[in-house]
Amino acid sequence: AAEATPRRLSPRAAASPTQGDARWGDTSSYGAKKKHRVFCQLLNGDWALCTVLTTSGDESVLKVSEGKVLRLKTESLQPANPEILDGVDDLMQLSYLSEPSVLYNLQYRYSQDMIYTKAGPVLVAVNPFKKVSLYGNEYIDAYRNKSMDSPHVYAIADAALREMKRDEVNQSIIISGESGAGKTETAKIAMQYLASLGGGSGIEYEILQTNPILEAFGNAKTLRNDNSSRFSRVVQCAVGERSYHIFYQLCAGAPASLRERLNLKKVDEYKYLKQSCCYSIAGVDDAQMFRTVTEAMNIVHISKEDQENVFAMVSAVLWLGDVSFTVIDNENHVEIVVDEASKTVAELLGCSIEDLNLALSKRHMKVNNENIVQKLTLAQATDTRDALAKSVYASLFEWLVEQINKSLSVGKRRTGRSISILDIYGFESFDKNSFEQFCINYANERLQQHFNRHLFKLEQEEYVEDGIDWAKVEFEDNQDCLNLFEKKPLGLLSLLDEESTFPNATDLTFANKLKQHLNLNSCFRGERGKSFTVRHYAGEVAYDTSGFLEKNRDLLHMDSIRLLAKCEISLPNMFASKMLAQSDNSMSVPYRSSAADSQKLSVAMKFKGQLFQLMQRLESTTPHFIRCIKPNNLQLPAIYEQGLVLQQLKCCGVLEVVRISRSGYPTRMTHQKFARRYGFLLLEDVASQDPLSVSVAILHQFNILPEMYQVGYTKLFFRTGQIGKLEDTRNRT
Ligand code: ATP
Ligand code: MG
Repeated sequence: AAEATPRRLSPRAAASPTQGDARWGDTSSYGAKKKHRVFCQLLNGDWALCTVLTTSGDESVLKVSEGKVLRLKTESLQPANPEILDGVDDLMQLSYLSEPSVLYNLQYRYSQDMIYTKAGPVLVAVNPFKKVSLYGNEYIDAYRNKSMDSPHVYAIADAALREMKRDEVNQSIIISGESGAGKTETAKIAMQYLASLGGGSGIEYEILQTNPILEAFGNAKTLRNDNSSRFSRVVQCAVGERSYHIFYQLCAGAPASLRERLNLKKVDEYKYLKQSCCYSIAGVDDAQMFRTVTEAMNIVHISKEDQENVFAMVSAVLWLGDVSFTVIDNENHVEIVVDEASKTVAELLGCSIEDLNLALSKRHMKVNNENIVQKLTLAQATDTRDALAKSVYASLFEWLVEQINKSLSVGKRRTGRSISILDIYGFESFDKNSFEQFCINYANERLQQHFNRHLFKLEQEEYVEDGIDWAKVEFEDNQDCLNLFEKKPLGLLSLLDEESTFPNATDLTFANKLKQHLNLNSCFRGERGKSFTVRHYAGEVAYDTSGFLEKNRDLLHMDSIRLLAKCEISLPNMFASKMLAQSDNSMSVPYRSSAADSQKLSVAMKFKGQLFQLMQRLESTTPHFIRCIKPNNLQLPAIYEQGLVLQQLKCCGVLEVVRISRSGYPTRMTHQKFARRYGFLLLEDVASQDPLSVSVAILHQFNILPEMYQVGYTKLFFRTGQIGKLEDTRNRT
């Protein structure tokens, strides 16, 4: 019940910043005076708010809390903001923008369940790990009719909607953050707001119903997050984690007849699920979730027949893990064992046991234009089997998304404008970083550039172009790091692909190749053995190349695709035609696999292609950014670890954006638009005058202070909070 009524914690006028104190950690004008509030750093690295009792020489005596007094060097203290600024809803309002001030402000709000805070144009969301009463129809209405204006996902969704209508431009809401920070929940909250427009029925309702389906097939329990959006974990799963929810839901919730038709076992009887020794999630009823998912499938018009086919594929994937092999000669060549597992897989896919055996135990290749058949060893056959399971599952997911999209767009009125919500994994840096982190961090590097460009670069260019007085603000450009990844032929991605095509290459030869070609790059550092370090915008990450080549090579062979193409069941058949089409498209890409009989895209190249498509889509939208923060690693409420929060604030550039936004003019409007929008509020008749004169007259009539705006050649530029006054008057009129 933190925010039952709108609250402004501080009057804007009092919080209005002056340029001078906007710098980081600037204590030059500051001397610790008596009774002053300051931040001091405790031994564990946390900052504590305390009051200065006395200062003598270069030391101060501080009261940290009741009964706790410390003596510290005065110069080690950081100034704290006046009490009136405690918990301001936009970090831009802080007079001192030091790290401790920002951390304290977020913590102050967090402790009162105010989990949302603005950082200039960015919304920061700190995960509460508990139900907070900030959502639902009352809140939605309040944000819609503007009786509430504290920072909120609803406010962001509302702004996107209004700007889409006003500017006739597509919008995007870009949500980022670490695993478990709350991206997916935030995306759902934004969808909830947009869906409420439809009054709780119709297409908006159907769109909301896609969530349980997408989460069942796309999410899994990890050590960091019980409901983590994941990819590729069908065949491998760490202890304590789970594979995709749908596997457990199906096994727990399928009615008896379906259970029989799909030959389902108990979850702990499948090899793929057994390896992690984790089958349930506290507080989650998988059987109940299965009913929710099928109900949602009904709502988005996936037919009963298709649903059954989907579950047959899910069962086939599980049974594939149990398919085993027998060694048939002294070279370790194998054949599949004809048992319940292989029979069930064949039946579910709609192929013969012979075809399944052929696909999993032999490989057809073309060498010097001659067709040869290679027998597979046990290890190769196992890999082939796992690759098939992964690709069937991936195709299934893709198919589901396609069906949902189709069903939602059939016969529905389309306005031609859209709001895209992007829920994307944030930057990752662990003790050990592998190919997955390499891809994720590369994607984040691109997104960061989009963010930078949008917020900083475009902004400054616009000032300069429009001839206003603007002392340039430097910002970190990450183009060098992107070049390190993307440059051809000597970039990380190109070199990885090249090495992946050499049959004798190893992770070590790959690492050496990187060192040989990239050591002069300022964003790259070769390390001992198989490691290298990349200087990302968010910090340095050391990658271990173990497994890079294997993960980058797409293991799915033509034999497996041919198997699926032969299947009598429509789904696998469809998957196969798509895969064939995809491998055709890749002909233009210089990825040669000497062992494979077709040219296939490497995983990294596919990833890059998808990333570019995504970026292209985003470029044509007006972005709105939400940065999710995870306050602790325990998934528990009311624990706020400063170090963890600070590191995330740095990673997503929140601190930098506040500094820059505050010293700039974030609101702008062309003279014409401004005159048109507010001209009618003028007391004198100005119909005959040019837009610039009308604009100036408006500024005067409303007493907008000269330091709060600048007049450019074509546009007016305002500091934050200025247009609000005009809009209020306009809306009242
Ligand atoms: P991943 O990258 O692993 O997919 P994520 O950033 O999408 O992680 P979420 O699944 O959205 O993380 O959130 C993790 C958990 O945090 C949720 O299951 C929920 O328990 C809690 N949570 C997140 N946001 C909120 C919120 N606004 N209110 C209550 N709980 C929340
Ligand atoms: Mg998620």
